[in-house]
Amino acid sequence: MNLDSKAPSGPIEQAWDKYRFEMKLVNPANKRKYSILVVGSGLAGASAAASLAELGYNVNCYCFQDSPRRAHSIAAQGGINAAKNYPNDGDSVYRLFYDTVKGGDFRAREHNVYRLAQISLNIIDQCVAQGVPFAREYSGYLTNRSFGGAQVSRTFYARGQTGQQLLLGAYQALERQVGLGTVRMFPRTEMLDLIVIDGRARGIVTRNLIDGKIETHLADAVVLGTGGYGNVFFLSTNAKGSNCTAIWRAYKRGALFANPCFTQIHPTCIPV
Ligand SMILES: Cc1cc2nc3c(=O)[nH]c(=O)nc-3n(C[C@H](O)[C@H](O)[C@H](O)COP(=O)(O)OP(=O)(O)OC[C@H]3O[C@@H](n4cnc5c(N)ncnc54)[C@H](O)[C@@H]3O)c2cc1C
Repeated sequence: MNLDSKAPSGPIEQAWDKYRFEMKLVNPANKRKYSILVVGSGLAGASAAASLAELGYNVNCYCFQDSPRRAHSIAAQGGINAAKNYPNDGDSVYRLFYDTVKGGDFRAREHNVYRLAQISLNIIDQCVAQGVPFAREYSGYLTNRSFGGAQVSRTFYARGQTGQQLLLGAYQALERQVGLGTVRMFPRTEMLDLIVIDGRARGIVTRNLIDGKIETHLADAVVLGTGGYGNVFFLSTNAKGSNCTAIWRAYKRGALFANPCFTQIHPTCIPV
């Protein structure tokens, strides 16, 4: 089996910048000739669909629910980490990378964690631009708290409803693109299978959950932002829709499935 993770080469601090520079670009005028299917409209799917559409691609976005606002992301509470170092307490991209690898019991894929730490800076700016009402100091600056055992304060939050506010922001960005006609939204639609052509994911088979109609959708690329699978446990704070149906179908079609041990479980789920 080919276990190439396609991690970019070179020192980890420079690998992604080098990769981004060497990537083939698509001419802005040509982007509208490409179509992308985004399955899922939670924080991952809604943001990906809105951003790809804003870049100029034609996007179809699918979800089970009657509205993207009902994705499970709405339930996240505590906050989102970013190495902005606003409190000047010694944080850096490298420290967020290091803490995350350590927090992942040294099993996470380091290149991906580094990228996550790098773009954490931009994600906060993107969310603020989308109107997410993060907590602020009295002076107006964004405030931070220490979360999850971190030695620095790097968590941006909106009281205990950060996921809700983030998803409403992502949803607004998505709806803006729906209004502009660059995203076609397919709510109440379940992905039943992945279509692979010449080793690439090029389409999906869907079922309309209202009338049962089965359809095929083809495109140049498919993005799966279909969430977690905490319901493998008897007790879970994940919504029942977090059921891994989509990633399981991708796995059956040849995608690799890594680290199933990384399943979030909340202490509130542990019976007394
Ligand atoms: C109680 C709770 C608190 C949390 N607190 C935090 C926190 O403080 N900080 C933090 O960083 N994280 C937190 N998390 C984790 C975080 O919320 C999730 O990791 C994140 O929201 C997942 O986003 P997502 O877009 O990947 O998935 P989801 O929001 O679950 O979205 C999945 C989407 O995929 C669609 N979908 C799935 N399968 C199919 C299919 N077969 N066909 C069509 N559509 C499909 C669904 O309809 C949905 O739109 C928390 C989670 C929980 C449960």
